[in-house]
Amino acid sequence: MAHESKDSDILLHGGCLCGRLRYALRADEIVGAGYCHCRLCQRSTGAPVVAWLTLPVEFFDYIKGRPTPYLSSRSYMREFCPDCGTQIAFRAVDPEPTLDVTIASLDDPARVPPRKHIWCESQTPWLSMGDDLPRHARGSNGG
Ligand SMILES: [Zn+2]
Ligand SMILES: [Zn+2]
Repeated sequence: MAHESKDSDILLHGGCLCGRLRYALRADEIVGAGYCHCRLCQRSTGAPVVAWLTLPVEFFDYIKGRPTPYLSSRSYMREFCPDCGTQIAFRAVDPEPTLDVTIASLDDPARVPPRKHIWCESQTPWLSMGDDLPRHARGSNGG
């Protein structure tokens, strides 16, 4: 038996604050995780930094409710709960192979530790994070 993992080990669940939206994703398909300090993430959440994971779109699904999309730039939309406003996902308008999901909306965010910082050029000057992760002034590919 080469493949003995149970679904409960592989599937991570999450959702919005009010419970209208629930989703599931495959932990073993995550290809990246990091903190984003860009102004669009800051303004769209009201938080100084947002932690995202990245995975192929086919391994993420809403299992309860449908989000409201908001076009935060010409090519990308952010998916929110229409009731409580929790931001769940960041997705390309013209389909791309991967999408991003907010790590803190997982039921157990500890399962996916961020491994890098991106868009540090707009990090709030009073935010101090004592980790040794790679820091990129703007975006970065992979990881
Ligand atoms: Zn909600
Ligand atoms: Zn961002």
